[in-house]
Amino acid sequence: MSGKKHSLLSASGAHRWLACPPSAKLELQFPDTTSEAASEGTLVHDLAELKLKHHFFTNDLPRSKFTREVNKLKKKPLWQDEMMRHTDTYLDYVNTAAMAFEHDPSKGIEKRVYFGAYTLADQEDENEGYGTADCILIGGETLQVIDFKYGKGVPVSAEGNPQLALYALGAYEMYKMLYPIERVKLSIVQPRLSDGASEWDTTISELLAWGEYVKRQAALALEGEGEYHPGEQQCRFCRARAQCRARAEENVRLAFQVGKKPPLITTDEAGQYLLQGEDVAKWLKDLQEWALSECLAGREVPGWKAVEGRGSREWTDMETAFEVLQQAGINRAVLYEEKPLTLAQVEKVVGKKDFEDAVGAYVVKNPGKPTLVKESDKREAIKNKITAVEAFKEEKDHE
Ligand code: SF4
Repeated sequence: MSGKKHSLLSASGAHRWLACPPSAKLELQFPDTTSEAASEGTLVHDLAELKLKHHFFTNDLPRSKFTREVNKLKKKPLWQDEMMRHTDTYLDYVNTAAMAFEHDPSKGIEKRVYFGAYTLADQEDENEGYGTADCILIGGETLQVIDFKYGKGVPVSAEGNPQLALYALGAYEMYKMLYPIERVKLSIVQPRLSDGASEWDTTISELLAWGEYVKRQAALALEGEGEYHPGEQQCRFCRARAQCRARAEENVRLAFQVGKKPPLITTDEAGQYLLQGEDVAKWLKDLQEWALSECLAGREVPGWKAVEGRGSREWTDMETAFEVLQQAGINRAVLYEEKPLTLAQVEKVVGKKDFEDAVGAYVVKNPGKPTLVKESDKREAIKNKITAVEAFKEEKDHE
């Protein structure tokens, strides 16, 4: 278990404990593992913070100090050069957002806020009720909370986002005496997934009404009460996800539900099954991982056992091995193959603009294979252009 004590009702976990209040206490039985993605996120957030501070508060963080600090970050093992580009996108967004205010807004960068009045936190407990917003802008009647997300797996929407809404409540409590806040804007910049930000506007009265709902759910969560409510979003990173009975029963119900129905399913049903099946598949994977760890720990999982998977071979000293082969008469050209970089790799090495200027004329964009995605996906739907059957046939012809 990681040494750091995590809060029971955190802002980042709010999407879970609001939907499934007893999950907060159930999760306590399981270790919280900090993944590499999280550490990578910390590093890139440090860089983003430096850039914003240098840009908005240059006197406090002049160029020489800024460069020194950035160079320190570049030495960290998880550093990637692309972090510079992605944090520039975030800085651009914040800068444009600040300029959209009628007067220069007040800026909070990596601002610690307290929303414990809504999560019913014990005021003595310094772990509860606090969160750090990446950026808060306040001016006139507007409060804007901006979040920088570095993940590239799942797009996160700002619409009704509970983490940002809790930060907004915290910021409102902090600044309500100074600003006549009426309008609230939530923004998520996720540059590895999209060039544009996800934005959502609401009013302070709607936010406060939601705050009352938060209080009711928090009261249940703190007591470990309320209904377990399995669902893809809330179960996805729940620490109890492999063993949770409610999730298991729900997924078994979804996977094996039977009844007297017509022999053929409709497209309506297909859509519904595909949606329901997503979490069934994830749940089975979580269950397999947990059962494997139990078998490896020597505990019995009836009907299952752990075995060694297919191994692989690798050189202990490739250079010496190749020398030996060459001395034995094997030609170097047989041992090494020269391969061109992929188009994306070349673009990364050359830089987007230089790539476009120098060889853009030699690039043609082929349309992608039709893919089934959820309706909420931002891409435009394609219809009557090419059927999936035709697309797969084309692919086969090229094989
Ligand atoms: S796995 Fe899902 S249903 Fe079970 S406690 Fe976690 S969020 Fe709730």
